[in-house]
Amino acid sequence: MTSAGQVKEPKEEIMQVTINKSRLELVEGDITEQDTEAIVNAANPTLLGGGGVDGAIHRAAGPELLEECRTLGGCRTGDAKITKGYRLKAKYVIHAVGPVYHREGPERAAELLASAYRRSLEVASENNIRSVAFPSISTGAYGYPMEEAAPIALRTVIDYLKSHPDIELVRFVLFGHRAYQIYERALKEILAQD
Ligand code: ADP
Repeated sequence: MTSAGQVKEPKEEIMQVTINKSRLELVEGDITEQDTEAIVNAANPTLLGGGGVDGAIHRAAGPELLEECRTLGGCRTGDAKITKGYRLKAKYVIHAVGPVYHREGPERAAELLASAYRRSLEVASENNIRSVAFPSISTGAYGYPMEEAAPIALRTVIDYLKSHPDIELVRFVLFGHRAYQIYERALKEILAQD
């Protein structure tokens, strides 16, 4: 029993900023539940499924997603390919392949990570998609330190939105409070510099 005044409101973490004509959001949550037109998958080069976000997206989308992925012939690191979203709320999944941090080393990893975000947005633009949700690519099994990845991810998305108002909303969906806080801090630092 909770007595009056002690009821805990679920605290929704959210930060929203305007970049040129577009909205950039940070939320704490689960990417599979997003209602953006597209969600981005942190995929591996086979595009045949895996753990982490990839596993969660395939489970939520259903087996047709893997069937379509099998027809794509994989995806290079730093690139992205699109499929339908099947049972997801999102109409599309954009499968982006980020770098394995320790395989590439910090400099090459940074280029490839930026490329994965940029290519995802280019694929969205090519398909007339106006809203995209991203997870924190490469920061799970691929070992990219989140404090390093967050400014690269945010900077790349901000640069893209400045010249591509066709994308109306980009939402970063951060898994857990620590991830949310790292992205929030990074975004505040970028905005303070600009
Ligand atoms: P990668 O192989 O690119 O590192 P992972 O899926 O292992 O991809 O992890 C990427 C990030 O996604 C991690 O920070 C992880 O905590 C987060 N993550 C895991 N499940 C979800 C989910 N359902 N929604 C959003 N983010 C998630």
